[in-house]
Amino acid sequence: MGAHARGPSNLRLVWVYPDLLSTYGDRGNLLVLERRARLRGIGVEAIQVNADQPVPRHGDIYLLGGGEDLPQVLAARRLRTDAGLAAAAAQGSVVFAVCAGYQLIGAEFGGDKGQPVAGLEILDIRSGRGERRGVGEILADVDPELGVPRLSGFENHQGVTRIGPGARPLARVLTGVGNGDGTEGAYAGRVLGTYLHGPALVRNPALADLLLSWAVGTLPPLDGEYEAWTARFREQRLAAVPVG
Ligand code: GLN
Repeated sequence: MGAHARGPSNLRLVWVYPDLLSTYGDRGNLLVLERRARLRGIGVEAIQVNADQPVPRHGDIYLLGGGEDLPQVLAARRLRTDAGLAAAAAQGSVVFAVCAGYQLIGAEFGGDKGQPVAGLEILDIRSGRGERRGVGEILADVDPELGVPRLSGFENHQGVTRIGPGARPLARVLTGVGNGDGTEGAYAGRVLGTYLHGPALVRNPALADLLLSWAVGTLPPLDGEYEAWTARFREQRLAAVPVG
């Protein structure tokens, strides 16, 4: 078991600012983590924190979704003032952030008028606005270090992202845009960000299991009917998108 080995207490999942950050069904990421933990006998407490509430610092996995430009700016401002998410990340909690959430955990991103907006500096990335929106299906091959098979997702963003020396690209793009330089997403320690909606963890259950394992240690594999349906959906999405 990892440093966050779990006794009888529940796994605490914190869904950050669904009132500002949740597009394209990103809430599905929370449901998948909850389900895949429970199927393994791990008790779960799912905590939803709106933007007018303090972010608890005792969570095990924090989830942030995508958002439109203005809500993203508001979310970044409030999260910087609140400081709970950065404190939790500094203590080793897992952070999984999608699109707007991904951009705002970095050093800087492009705001609603393209202006630079300060991020939370939890992940060594820097984003700005690109020339065109990246919209459509995306396929990307994950850093082999992480042991996660090809990612399938949907992306819709104007932002482009540069990864600094303190983080690594999550994946290499086969189809789609991702960070805009041939890479997709980024990770460092237990913090991982991606442009993928879909929702990402529904389409890529191995990524969900990676996040769970960062929080609770090695997990037994799942099998049975649930896993057969999960695999069928994933295969269908992968088959629908041409590579390159
Ligand atoms: N507003 C951001 C952008 O366009 C993020 C969009 C999103 O979260 N889907 O880059």
